[in-house]
Amino acid sequence: MTNPTTQYEPIIGLEIHAELMTNSKMFCPCQVVDSVEAEPNTAVCPVCLGMPGMLPVINRRAVEYAMRVALALNCEVQHHNIFARKNYFYPDLPKAYQISQYELPIGLHGWLDVELEDGTTKRIGIRRVHMEEDTGKLTHLEGGGSLVDYNRSGVPLLEIVSEPDIHSGEEARAYAMKIRQILRYLGVNAGDLEKGVFRVEPNISIRPIGATAFGKRTELKNLNSFKSLADGTAFEIARQTEVLNSGGRVVQETRGWHDTKRITFSQRSKEEAEDYRYFPEPDLPPLAIDDAWIAEVRASLPELPDAKVARYQSDYGLSAYDARVLTEEKAVAEWFETAVSSPTFPDPKTIANWIINNLFSLMNEHKQSIDEIRVTPARLAELVGLVEQRAINNNTAKEVLAAMFTSGQSAPAIVQAQGLAQVSDEGAITAVIERILDTNPDNLAAYLGGKEKLIGFFVGQVMREMRGKADPAVVNRLLAAALAKRKP
Ligand SMILES: [Zn+2]
Repeated sequence: MTNPTTQYEPIIGLEIHAELMTNSKMFCPCQVVDSVEAEPNTAVCPVCLGMPGMLPVINRRAVEYAMRVALALNCEVQHHNIFARKNYFYPDLPKAYQISQYELPIGLHGWLDVELEDGTTKRIGIRRVHMEEDTGKLTHLEGGGSLVDYNRSGVPLLEIVSEPDIHSGEEARAYAMKIRQILRYLGVNAGDLEKGVFRVEPNISIRPIGATAFGKRTELKNLNSFKSLADGTAFEIARQTEVLNSGGRVVQETRGWHDTKRITFSQRSKEEAEDYRYFPEPDLPPLAIDDAWIAEVRASLPELPDAKVARYQSDYGLSAYDARVLTEEKAVAEWFETAVSSPTFPDPKTIANWIINNLFSLMNEHKQSIDEIRVTPARLAELVGLVEQRAINNNTAKEVLAAMFTSGQSAPAIVQAQGLAQVSDEGAITAVIERILDTNPDNLAAYLGGKEKLIGFFVGQVMREMRGKADPAVVNRLLAAALAKRKP
């Protein structure tokens, strides 16, 4: 029986694992390769295969990438870092331990501001950021048996652990998406959930509102999209609520998310940290990070999304919404900034509208990213410039953009080749107007009898007659004058 009097508060913390896009692995010179496309077990060596007696060497670039993330997430970068062995056996872990960081990770005490759907902003604490190495990849065969690929074994991995400040599936999704956005801005991770280079695992528990002790938590795995993260978390909150309300107890365990059934299922009981028998890695010295190195990395950070959004609002006069849309991806933001800095520069707000309302739909339609399109920022600015100069009207400009998108030609070339230049010649427009009025006597009579909405009909007829090239402002003005003259 459910007990409607008990209200619960969900408590969620997120663990995010992100592979770092270095050239070589964390502790050996093997190349980091695409885990889906590369031939299995081709990027391996005795170190990442866990052969006895092999010695790991720390990848300096991986440390620098980890530092970028720690700084971008407002963490205190630790000067004294220790790598530790996390001991467990699994077929994808040939050494039977993973080199990780335990007591002394690279980043501590950070935070991140996350925008929620209702427009509010919420600050979520970042408990720690630590470096480790990835495991190999297992593929379970349908008929039984498993294959193992060690290409991924030893790839630099970053774990980002939030404080349990998250209270819903939606908040979990917003936080994870923002982390991914920042990692992509920093150029340290591709953010591809499908390929497993960015993995999100929420720890979820509930407790009666007002209680201070945490309830038993479950950890959710196999989430391969942000939607699954939001839905899986919401499912788990509802499941735990039902368990408690029916007098049961939540079991601490790892649960998988079934992507087609949209439910969670028990996988295994969850280990506690003490089960791993962590101890300092004897084959690696402590890693010292001095202030000069931290300052150097801090100075190399790109402008991050929140700073860009603020600058777009203050410098370009964009709305918060438009600024967010344009900065969602760094490549789009850079494209926009190039467009507004071109010599044919019209107004940034107009350029922003053209990107958001027209260019994005062409990109969707043709399934192309901003890096792939043939329209250059300068050429979009040139097109918008033609509209501003009234050389073509807005509707024609949309057709021209579509032609630019497929042909890669410039707007003036297309306008000239297709004879699309706007007609502002008052004599030519007046002649068409008079002809339209003469050939539609019924509508003209109705208009003169008071049906003033019919003005739209006449505008449409004139524009059609002139193949959309007439200047709409001139048409409206001359049509009003012509109709006034015909009033009895
Ligand atoms: Zn190797």
